[in-house]
Amino acid sequence: MAEASSKQDLIVGVDLGGTKVLAGVFSPQLKRLSSAKLTTKAERGYTAVVERIARCVRDAVDEADFSLKQVRAIGIGAPGAINPESGEVIFAPNLRWKDAPLKKDLEKMLDVPVFIENDCNVCALGVHAVELGGRPRHMLGIFVGTGIGGGLIINGELYGGFNRTAGEIGHMVLEVGGPKCGCGNRGCFEALASRTAIFRRLTEAVKEGQKTVLTEMLGPGQELTDLKSGDLRKAMRKGDKLVGKVIEDAAEYTGIAVANLINILNPEVIVLGGGVLDALADEMMAIIIGTARDYAMAGTDKGIEIIASKLGDEAGITGSAVLARRGMKS
Ligand SMILES: [Zn+2]
Repeated sequence: MAEASSKQDLIVGVDLGGTKVLAGVFSPQLKRLSSAKLTTKAERGYTAVVERIARCVRDAVDEADFSLKQVRAIGIGAPGAINPESGEVIFAPNLRWKDAPLKKDLEKMLDVPVFIENDCNVCALGVHAVELGGRPRHMLGIFVGTGIGGGLIINGELYGGFNRTAGEIGHMVLEVGGPKCGCGNRGCFEALASRTAIFRRLTEAVKEGQKTVLTEMLGPGQELTDLKSGDLRKAMRKGDKLVGKVIEDAAEYTGIAVANLINILNPEVIVLGGGVLDALADEMMAIIIGTARDYAMAGTDKGIEIIASKLGDEAGITGSAVLARRGMKS
């Protein structure tokens, strides 16, 4: 077995986030062989983070008793605006990067070809290629976490659009004059249904004197915003009315966003993922699907599948591996 493995052309997929870096080593058939995880430490600056990415890749490779020489390509999903051709991160606010030549610098450090893409595009690639076996011609991925992002697969290919920024569905305005969004606008989907938006609403309600079991789950010195999506699920299962209402509203906004996207793009499959959906799929999916079918123009949603991804945390590294494999072949 070890002999066979040593001849493999390995691929590494990296999920670069604002707080953590994940790296996974994959076989050419996209089977995950090992993984590693490090904190990002964005506050230490660009060069330090690039060194940490390189370390995480080396750790993952070492974990499976392979050598970096066996790695044929590395794919990276990075947050923010990316130029996949030049390999630069044009703007990533949560890493505090601008015009960062990530591909060039990592290739210098690791001596392996590197391919980069936006993190949500990469997650959509992973779901499409691995979870759905590359089957749908047109697929839309919606990832609800701290923020909300999306990725479009059209005619079996990732769709980037004119400026390679397509898929920013989190900034679709769903409520004119609604809550302020991180992008500067008001009423964006992300400002209404992301984890950040959910906890903002809960914090406001508690200030107004509404009751929730979440306040009893807090440790000393903890704030509501320190809680996780999994805590929301626990509260809902305890019958918490406030959390139930806020999650129901978030699911409804998500359903409306899905309906808009069905009307515009008419994809075969819509896949929902990200931290909030991973934790609350049982609570949210029925509302999302019901609302989407209600709001989509009559006849447009026939036969369209609306499903929750099962890849969870693995979507990023899996999709990055798909990106690397694709880059290797071209
Ligand atoms: Zn926005």
